[in-house]
Amino acid sequence: MNLVLVGPPGAGKGTQAEKLITEFGLTHVATGDMFRAAVSNGTPMGLEAKKYMDAGKLVPDDVVVGMVEERLAQDDVRDGFMLDGFPRNTHQAEALDAFLEKSGRSIDLVLNIAVDPELLVKRLTGRRVCRECGGNYHVLFSPSEAGDKCAGCGGELYLRDDDNEHTVRNRLDVYRNQTEPVIGYYRPLGKLADINGALKPDEVFEQIFKAIGATEESESA
Ligand code: AMP
Repeated sequence: MNLVLVGPPGAGKGTQAEKLITEFGLTHVATGDMFRAAVSNGTPMGLEAKKYMDAGKLVPDDVVVGMVEERLAQDDVRDGFMLDGFPRNTHQAEALDAFLEKSGRSIDLVLNIAVDPELLVKRLTGRRVCRECGGNYHVLFSPSEAGDKCAGCGGELYLRDDDNEHTVRNRLDVYRNQTEPVIGYYRPLGKLADINGALKPDEVFEQIFKAIGATEESESA
């Protein structure tokens, strides 16, 4: 199954992606993670992308689309993938359909995880990420038992450069103006499942589990 996770920053896409990996063995393709890896490796693409990321803006489409097309040509996604953070606008959605079609593939299901914007600001500015294993915490909602270290691996917890309030608000504006139309692109195709992302992670996953089950049933019917 080929899935897309759509939702504003802070909707819990990363958390749900981890559950999807465990439950369905899907390969996670997260464009934000790919850019952060390029930034920390100091590649020319990473240095270019960082300018946009720090401002809360989208990296130009030609850079992102090329990167994702290359990634989805690799062997480990042949049996299914889960895109997280891509497509971020309708041009990227059209480009995705076009290059998947070349290899006889398509998107089966788009999970639209919706959350109230003010809750998102609270979630993002309090988020802390482990530098070593990428584990996610929140200073109020899910603090690490090891204080400012990761409870899983002992790595340092940090605030992402783009999780300060000013950049968070920019990212939410970009989401509303550019990414929400992606929902309108997929809805008429009958591929969209609306998920309430304000609930607890396990309750959110329950809705996702049902949506995947319904899609599998309709595809095998
Ligand atoms: P994320 O971790 O998904 O919130 O992404 C962090 C940042 O990476 C975004 O604010 C953008 O600057 C950049 N980015 C990630 N995915 C995309 C995309 N599909 N198109 C453009 N920029 C992206």
